[in-house]
Amino acid sequence: MGKRGRFAKVSGSVRLYGLGEDMQEKKINGNRMLLDKDKFRFECHPGVSCFTRCCRNADMYLYPYDIIRLKKKLKISSDEFLKKHTISAFRDNKYFPSLMLKMSDDEEKSCPFLTEEGCTVYEDRPFSCRAYPLERAVARLNDVDERLVQYFVANHPYCLGHKEPREWTVKEWTENQQLQTYDEMNDLWVNIDTIFRKNPWGDQGTSSPALKMAFLACFNVDKLKDFIFESSFLSRFDVPEERKEKIMESDVELMKFGFDWVNYILTSSGPLTSKNP
Ligand code: SF4
Ligand code: SF4
Repeated sequence: MGKRGRFAKVSGSVRLYGLGEDMQEKKINGNRMLLDKDKFRFECHPGVSCFTRCCRNADMYLYPYDIIRLKKKLKISSDEFLKKHTISAFRDNKYFPSLMLKMSDDEEKSCPFLTEEGCTVYEDRPFSCRAYPLERAVARLNDVDERLVQYFVANHPYCLGHKEPREWTVKEWTENQQLQTYDEMNDLWVNIDTIFRKNPWGDQGTSSPALKMAFLACFNVDKLKDFIFESSFLSRFDVPEERKEKIMESDVELMKFGFDWVNYILTSSGPLTSKNP
């Protein structure tokens, strides 16, 4: 294949479908088609005339694991990353804001990580940049663990990668773009997002203070760490020593702990337990 080089971006996404929603109805939606055969055609490389077109003016969603990878790459805190590089807005989930990458103020609204040398965060580029043109749809089929996973192929008219002859299976693309860990982390996020989609905020709706705490728990691991270790949190929750050590050392463990906390607050379930039930 032609090498994608340090560029390569796009706007794939994790499509989230709630309990009981029918993904087949979403089969064809504008620039997206259900992948109903084994292979799709695509290649992105510096020789395509649209090269880096998709790193500009993109509507790019960010997920919790993206934040962890990017803030580490940039050597800044999650709080600083959120303030500097993201915007949030109520989009496809009307009960919880989505997070998007803030594009630069230049005329072309370029990605802030795009330079003449290419993508400066390539090894840690967000899921959306890796996955395109695939979109992975995960639907929960019941309240336990049963899932239906389907893949869609996005096809934007400006993207000439679809005209290239190279064919891929989903497995080949997933391995080539190192998407396995992202899929694993995003599946955990799907569980939490499913809770948000059911409007868990009660009478206060989206102005509930619980929403702000949930946002912090999901996206701001460094603030979450401060909150856990510098407030009365640990006197209120039973957290085994082994888990405390893990969340001290690992942002991924912190993110997972944040998900458990959200689960506890909003559904009174999951592994986290209160000292005063
Ligand atoms: S992070 Fe930005 S520059 Fe890098 S591939 Fe994605 S859109 Fe392009
Ligand atoms: S081929 Fe598609 S993904 Fe690659 S640079 Fe062009 S528009 Fe972006």
